[in-house]
Amino acid sequence: MKEEKMQNQNKNQTIEDILIKHNAKPYRYEQIYKALYQNPDVKAWEDMFTVPEEIRKDLAKTLGNEILTLNPKTTQKTGETEKVLFETHDGHSIEAVKMHYENGRNSYCVSTQSGCAMGCAFCATGQMGLKRNLTTDEIVDQVLYFAKQGYEVDNVVFMGMGEPFLNPATFEALEIMTHKDMLNLGSRKVSVSTVGIIPGIHRMTKEFPQINLAFSLHTPFQDQREKLMPVSKSYPVVAVMEALAEHIRVTNRKVFIAYILLGGVTDSLEHAQALAGLINSFEEAYLFHVNLINYHEVPGGKFKRCSEASLERFRKALFDAGIRSTVRQDFGEGIDAACGQLGGEAS
Ligand code: SF4
Repeated sequence: MKEEKMQNQNKNQTIEDILIKHNAKPYRYEQIYKALYQNPDVKAWEDMFTVPEEIRKDLAKTLGNEILTLNPKTTQKTGETEKVLFETHDGHSIEAVKMHYENGRNSYCVSTQSGCAMGCAFCATGQMGLKRNLTTDEIVDQVLYFAKQGYEVDNVVFMGMGEPFLNPATFEALEIMTHKDMLNLGSRKVSVSTVGIIPGIHRMTKEFPQINLAFSLHTPFQDQREKLMPVSKSYPVVAVMEALAEHIRVTNRKVFIAYILLGGVTDSLEHAQALAGLINSFEEAYLFHVNLINYHEVPGGKFKRCSEASLERFRKALFDAGIRSTVRQDFGEGIDAACGQLGGEAS
């Protein structure tokens, strides 16, 4: 196999090629996958002592000594969050975040792109533009980095840098995360957040019906959303909501609406009532759940957090209209339940 082809495919495909070349028995696949994804002590191919030496050597020769494809550059710990800035082999920056919840569980927020083409007005990542899609390995390795340090992986959320449904590798990464011989996460422990890419929503309905789906809405008004989130011109709010209602009909699963409250911009009573009206216009309203997130201000940024009083007024208006909502735990570093809340350190 040519070197170049090896670089374009993910680790699993390379492992399969090498096992075929060595005429390995079928149980070797499971053995290698489990060592790779489930054993924190295996950090390099040569640590796979149960695997014949000639296969280990071939894996190391083809994939490099280290299992992880990302290079961790800096780690920033604040309260319950640990944010890691990684560098890809070609010098792009991406961020992943470990969040430790009050209930003792660890959740990991991963990026799917370096930068993002969506250009949402309130988002530091959006201002970077898109550098490139991450590979399947680069997405999975953000979680594997923490797993190799012995941390439990309880939840993974695709809410870091980038729009997951604009990168086809997202779907391969979901396969690896939920496969029983690989990261072995229950589908319900994985969540993907989209700004409303309808073909991606349809694909989730068909291929990953049990994985949690979140729609980053942030305003119920189409004209305002086009200004804040230009993607809305291609995928209007009502069309996205229809795709989500169909997802609920097919899967009977709850869908989350992420709503960042921008002080004086999206936090008014009118916004809350319009949001409630939008959701209640669907028969499936009872399976929409709103996650309210106060905005995390970026130094020099033009948006502000909303006040506690407006947050409470918003929540109450939803409640009065029969809409379920949760005010998300504040992690200080601003990572929860929606993309667009990562800081701007990556560039
Ligand atoms: S909010 Fe999400 S989709 Fe929008 S620019 Fe930021 S990373 Fe991209």
